[in-house]
Amino acid sequence: MKASFDAIVIGGGPAGATAAAVLAAKGRDVVLLEREKFPRYHIGESLMPYCYFPLERIGVVDRIKNSHFPKKYSVQFVTPAGKVSQPFYFFQHLEHEASTTWQVLRSEFDAMILDKARENGAEIREQTTARELLRQDGAVTGVRCEGPDGQPYELRAPITIDATGRDALAVTRNGWKVRDPYLNKIAIWTYYRNAARDPGLDEGATTVAYVPERGWFWYIPLPDNITSVGIVAEKDYLYRDGERDLAAIFAREIKQNPWIESHLAPGEQFGRYWVTGEYSYRSQHCASDGLILAGDAFAFLDPVFSSGVFLALRSGELAADAADAALTASDFSAAQFRPYGDYLIQGIEAMRKLVYAFYDDAFSFREFIMANPTLKGDLTDCLIGNLFRDFDPLFGALKDFAQLPAPLSHGTPLEAAQVAGR
Ligand SMILES: Cc1cc2nc3c(=O)[nH]c(=O)nc-3n(C[C@H](O)[C@H](O)[C@H](O)COP(=O)(O)OP(=O)(O)OC[C@H]3O[C@@H](n4cnc5c(N)ncnc54)[C@H](O)[C@@H]3O)c2cc1C
Repeated sequence: MKASFDAIVIGGGPAGATAAAVLAAKGRDVVLLEREKFPRYHIGESLMPYCYFPLERIGVVDRIKNSHFPKKYSVQFVTPAGKVSQPFYFFQHLEHEASTTWQVLRSEFDAMILDKARENGAEIREQTTARELLRQDGAVTGVRCEGPDGQPYELRAPITIDATGRDALAVTRNGWKVRDPYLNKIAIWTYYRNAARDPGLDEGATTVAYVPERGWFWYIPLPDNITSVGIVAEKDYLYRDGERDLAAIFAREIKQNPWIESHLAPGEQFGRYWVTGEYSYRSQHCASDGLILAGDAFAFLDPVFSSGVFLALRSGELAADAADAALTASDFSAAQFRPYGDYLIQGIEAMRKLVYAFYDDAFSFREFIMANPTLKGDLTDCLIGNLFRDFDPLFGALKDFAQLPAPLSHGTPLEAAQVAGR
């Protein structure tokens, strides 16, 4: 088997597959290592409109259009009493076909992107787990991995993109994980068959339905009349009174919101209940010599605004561009990747502020827009994923309505001078 490449990508989710597709399209010799055999299950089913642009760049929009994924035109919010807000239609803000987005089965969506990377010429090695990053003089120069037969072997490349999702290989191995203490929620979720759908344009909408103490349900219509339903809240709230049984917690919480209760009533729950904790985090570093982190392997943000897949696609694309520039310049030093990190963090920080506002007890989007009608467009840009622009006016006004976090100081590349100074 070939052992030397221009670039190694670890992880075949949206971040890694996009990175491999872009690098291969540029003519780079790239190998992607994926632990699972695709198609594989993954959570994260609701897209935001700006996913369109990275998907368009790698050429998979038509495949998605021709799929059975429900079209998502809007998002709506439901009060704890079950009252539904006016749906927020993306096409009222964005005059572009990107305003129609999708609710996806990640098994199929992720496979479409991985197939595209393969078609572009990337070598895809499934059932192959990266175990260690190999270093020479501090720089990452390869990966020790294990193939389907369990035999370890080494691959070499001057640049590696870590897109291992929440397993976060480099973060875990280097102790780089920094949690966001305020956003320390957990999620419990499952699936229903034949639960109710709203009529017409709202059939594929994402619904965010509040429960007490700023917890919330997602309600995401998927193909074949299946609905993904999950609750996100503080651990102490969900595990209160010593209850640990996920099905019992779920059943108890459904009763906290009449809209969720009535929509699930005609349906039938199936399969297991899933749980995940250790919510939002960001890596101490987005890169080091010979290494770039992308997607959840770099940072994870509470999923209330469905930003995860977008940030994965976009960072995969940007990481590939940064890797390609490094290959052209034959310079793989961490400093090369500073613009990548700065740009990505700018978008993540904008979304992070909105997530904080969402969880602020005193905050209401409605009241904010009533008081600041001229900022509705800026707010909407944030919510649809147009994150990489100037939001100073928006957040300047928002800070009078909600407690906004200071930007995190970490996430920049680990440059050689920092390593030497330790
Ligand atoms: C409860 C919950 C709900 C969410 N809801 C949404 C939502 O509605 N919308 C949204 O946009 N986002 C949502 N997200 C976020 C979304 O799931 C992620 O942001 C997105 O999947 C990140 O993509 P990725 O490519 O970075 O990582 P992943 O999609 O996790 O892909 C990583 C890949 O790397 C592979 N891998 C891991 N370790 C190794 C290794 N050592 N060697 C080889 N391969 C490896 C894995 O098998 C996996 O295929 C949600 C997340 C959670 C937890």
